Amino acid sequence: MNIDLDASSTPDSDGLDLDASVAKSLFVGRITEENLFPYPRIDADEAETLRMVANSLDDFLQDKGEDFRQWDRESAQPEAFLQSLRELGLFGLIIPGDFGGIGLSNAGYTRVVEQLSSYDSSAALTVTAHSSIGMKGLLLFGTDEQKARYLPKLASGEMIAAFCLTESGSGSDAASVKTKAVKNQDGSWTLSGEKIWITNGGIGDFYTVFARTGNDPGELSAFFVERSWSGVNTGAKEDKMGIRASSTTSVSFSDVRVPAENLLGEEGQGFKIAMSILNNGRTGLGGGSVGGMKACIALATAQALERKQFGQNIAEFGLIKEKIAQMAIDCFASESVVWMVAHYIDSGCKDYSVEAAISKVFASEAMQRTANEALQIAGGNGFMKEFPYEQIVRDSRILTIFEGTSEILRLYIALSGIKEAGRLLEELAENVEDVFNDPIKGLGVLSEYAGRRLAQITPLRRDRMVNSVPATLRDEALIYDKYTAELGRVADVLLRRHGRDIVDKQLAMRRLADIAIDLFVGLCVLARVSSMTDSGDARYEQAITVAKLFSQQAKRRMNQNLRRIMRNEDEDLKQLAQYISSERAYPWDVL
Ligand SMILES: Cc1cc2nc3c(=O)[nH]c(=O)nc-3n(C[C@H](O)[C@H](O)[C@H](O)COP(=O)(O)OP(=O)(O)OC[C@H]3O[C@@H](n4cnc5c(N)ncnc54)[C@H](O)[C@@H]3O)c2cc1C
Repeated sequence: MNIDLDASSTPDSDGLDLDASVAKSLFVGRITEENLFPYPRIDADEAETLRMVANSLDDFLQDKGEDFRQWDRESAQPEAFLQSLRELGLFGLIIPGDFGGIGLSNAGYTRVVEQLSSYDSSAALTVTAHSSIGMKGLLLFGTDEQKARYLPKLASGEMIAAFCLTESGSGSDAASVKTKAVKNQDGSWTLSGEKIWITNGGIGDFYTVFARTGNDPGELSAFFVERSWSGVNTGAKEDKMGIRASSTTSVSFSDVRVPAENLLGEEGQGFKIAMSILNNGRTGLGGGSVGGMKACIALATAQALERKQFGQNIAEFGLIKEKIAQMAIDCFASESVVWMVAHYIDSGCKDYSVEAAISKVFASEAMQRTANEALQIAGGNGFMKEFPYEQIVRDSRILTIFEGTSEILRLYIALSGIKEAGRLLEELAENVEDVFNDPIKGLGVLSEYAGRRLAQITPLRRDRMVNSVPATLRDEALIYDKYTAELGRVADVLLRRHGRDIVDKQLAMRRLADIAIDLFVGLCVLARVSSMTDSGDARYEQAITVAKLFSQQAKRRMNQNLRRIMRNEDEDLKQLAQYISSERAYPWDVL
């Protein structure tokens, strides 16, 4: 079934529909197969460069475990280490060769971040805050002059970049920033305000700063600001729970004169620019999470095979096996979705923000589960600072908070999907008129809607994905087929029932988002395993097992979420929370 209303969709050479969003389409009951199958492969030339970068990273980092632990305790990365990162070219990973960088694709960059994160989260964060967000605006929206002026210094690491959005009163509600830029007569700007918790704040020299430039809330503009300018100051290093060696400080601007040529993009477009940067940069955190999970799996399996209790290796116990298998499923699924999103970005897909949000939510939460379970397998050792587990748990805790909290991203996923479903309904309402005025367009929309309703009534379309997956995964393909139709159906029901008020139904939205997450991640897993060649070896057989296990787990979760969208205790739950909050404490005691 094809219910894409946009007749002007543009396929690329790989057969991708560059205008389509796979994730949004799920909310109207459609699986955009052409954007999932075949699963992308890395370009052979880039693979060669990646191998070289990965080898030099291994050579440099493999003996640094004790240093990383010391820098975590001291809460600082020594200048000599930053200099080594510069010499390895790690600040120029995504900067084109013409400006002195390595010019990796998003996928290639994600793979390098994975490698770096498997050694140390703080080291990875120093690099990703620079590349994924700090100077990404310059790459995406900068003028030729701005690029020529800054990119060579950013590629060499002579300048380190930071992204300055958050303020004390403005976190998730990013549009509410108070930092202000006022335009002067000569076209320059005067910038005042304070940003908090800025990664690379203390070691950065190049800040992408978001400030209000209009009276309407959310009317922001973006500027490049150099640390050396008069009026720019950084605060003391924050004393953090994790990623302690990475620099986090406030950055303040006291009547800083910003030249006209340092405005990024158009005046008033700052909020859109900030969101585009965050969307484009999400695979950095995703890749980092995958690297962390791989490190945890290596640690946990070694521990489980070495530790003996009750006369056996603990690896022999069912409850430990369950944990190790789950870690592998979570890692494989995260890798599959992160890699797919990187491919969308590299291919020039125009609408990947929901897929990117899904990859960030899934991979960051999977990393936290994996870190906790690795620590659990290590038992008491896991709790001791002598071993790496407690640091990994502390370091991974931030992943679901920065660059969009899991709550905000789930709401974004559901709202964007619902909007897509609403767009179809609105077009339907508009085009009822057109049936008479413009019969071809009007009837086209009506028949598409009728097609979708039909698919919801008879969800099992047994031909879908049948040619794309191996016979052994046909049942799994049917799971995604069925639940995509179900998501389309409940999105439609909720939209009709609540209209615009759906925004306030956060628990229903969370369930919709979780169904979409399971569908999109599961489809990426299915596509990846389907693209593997049946080599008859264990790796292939076990990848099939991973796809089957993930699909069964996803099916159970989706079932539960679907049931609870219709029948739940949400009102009681909210009322209880309201009571507890009004008491400002737990009100019961056994005394
Ligand atoms: C170590 C660290 C590094 C950081 N680095 C940077 C950086 O480099 N640059 C930068 O600009 N910022 C940075 N940040 C800031 C980070 O992006 C914010 O902390 C994050 O966006 C969340 O904002 P907040 O902390 O103000 O939480 P709040 O927005 O106050 O949220 C608190 C809780 O309420 C939930 N919540 C908020 N709104 C809603 C809603 N509408 N519905 C339901 N739940 C809601 C949130 O999910 C969260 O659980 C960093 C933060 C940390 C801790």
